[in-house]
Order: sequence, then structure tokens, then C-alpha cells
Amino acid sequence: MNYFSDDGVKALLGRAAELALLFPLRDWRGQPGIILRHDVDLDVQAAYDFSRLLADIDIRSTFFFLVTAETYNVNCLPARRMLRQMAEDDFEVALHFDPQVYPKADEAALARHARDEGDILADIIGQGVNSVSLHNPSVHGSFMLLDGWNNAYDPAIFAPDRYLSDSRMQFRSDPMDFVAQGASRTVQLLLHPLHYTQDGGRYPVPMLNYLERQTRMVDTMFRVNSEYQERVGDSLLESLSQSLPQWKL
Ligand SMILES: [Zn+2]
Repeated sequence: MNYFSDDGVKALLGRAAELALLFPLRDWRGQPGIILRHDVDLDVQAAYDFSRLLADIDIRSTFFFLVTAETYNVNCLPARRMLRQMAEDDFEVALHFDPQVYPKADEAALARHARDEGDILADIIGQGVNSVSLHNPSVHGSFMLLDGWNNAYDPAIFAPDRYLSDSRMQFRSDPMDFVAQGASRTVQLLLHPLHYTQDGGRYPVPMLNYLERQTRMVDTMFRVNSEYQERVGDSLLESLSQSLPQWKL
């Protein structure tokens, strides 16, 4: 089965919910079940769309957002609306923290930065933000735990046999077998929303979808500009595809 298609991931999570309790990180008190978590690395729209898909099958989970992302801004109006809607629909909106943004910070300073970033998200959603996951911990080799937070890298839920991720659009083992363990003990499943599309296309389809959305956004932004209108017309996408052969690739 292609788990990266909408139908595939619905089948996986629907089956998981039959076999075990599925819940956001904030609801974990040591009980058996599946902590379902999403790290939002590329854009908010894909995360929001994924939350709609989960809501359709009555599943709630935790979405971890970067406040320091290079490719999205949680504070722009459309993102604020999407985050607030997700929180109101009972998804957990939480902090995806990238310590590499603060290369000179010691542990105490990092804790303060994380709290400040959490407060930005809390302002957006109008609720407290108390869960954190680290961005790229295996790349920078730091799995630090922040005091006073629910940590996605808590050793109790992050051992190799208790944790499965779709990083690189690959699962280390069959996710259908993995979720069945949630009936008797706590396991953690990490799905990156950008990986899931209607047809389940592999790389680079998720990136191309993002670029198309961003291109449309830039187009909308400049359409009020008469000179732009005159030179570009209605579609920046078309100009983009025409200019592609001239790019230095
Ligand atoms: Zn990440």
C-alpha cells in the first residue's frame, strides 16, 4: 500500500485507531497507545490540509511548528488563522524547536528561547503551548530535554523500538505492524504532513506542490501592481515555466 496517498494514510491511521488509543503528546500520562505527532518543516498549508484529513476520520494529534522556519511564517494572517482553527478543532499546536538558530546559547539560554517561541505560538492560538520537539536533532547531535515541557524525545517514547518516522519518505519497518504495538504499550508515530498528497507522489512532488503554492501567493501579492499586471498577465506560473530552460541548472 502507498501510505503517502490520502487513502493510504487514512487506511493506516483508521486501522491504528481500531487497534489502540491514538492521542496527541499532551495527553500522554504513561498509558499504552500511539502518540501521533507531525513536524512541520516546510509549510503550514500542508499541515492544515493534513489536519482536515485527520479530522475526517476523527483522529487528533500534535502538530509541531517552527517559529524560525525559512520557508513559512506562523505569524502571517493565513497561517495564524489555520493554526487557531486547528487548536479550536482540538489538535495540539506545539513548538518545533531548532537550537541551531542560537549557536552561542547555553542550555539555560536555549530554554528561554524555547519559552519565548512557545509564547509566540500561544498568542496565535489563544491557548497554552506545552509540548516541544526538536528540529533535526540527529543532524546536530543534541537530544536535549527542556524542563517543564512535554518532550517528544523523552527516552520513554523515543527508543528505536518505540518510535517510527516517515523521514526521507521511508519507514524503517511496516507502519501497519508498528501501530499494532500500541495496544499494549506506548509508541510514537511521526508523520511529516508535506509527504502526504492525494496521489501519494514521491519526491520531488511534495516540494513541487509547495513551490506551486508559493508561486501563486507571490502572483496574488503583485497582481495589484499595474506594471506587473501588464508585463506578467494573470499567471506567474506560466512565466516561470517559460523561463525554466534559461536557468543555470
Ligand atoms: Zn523538523
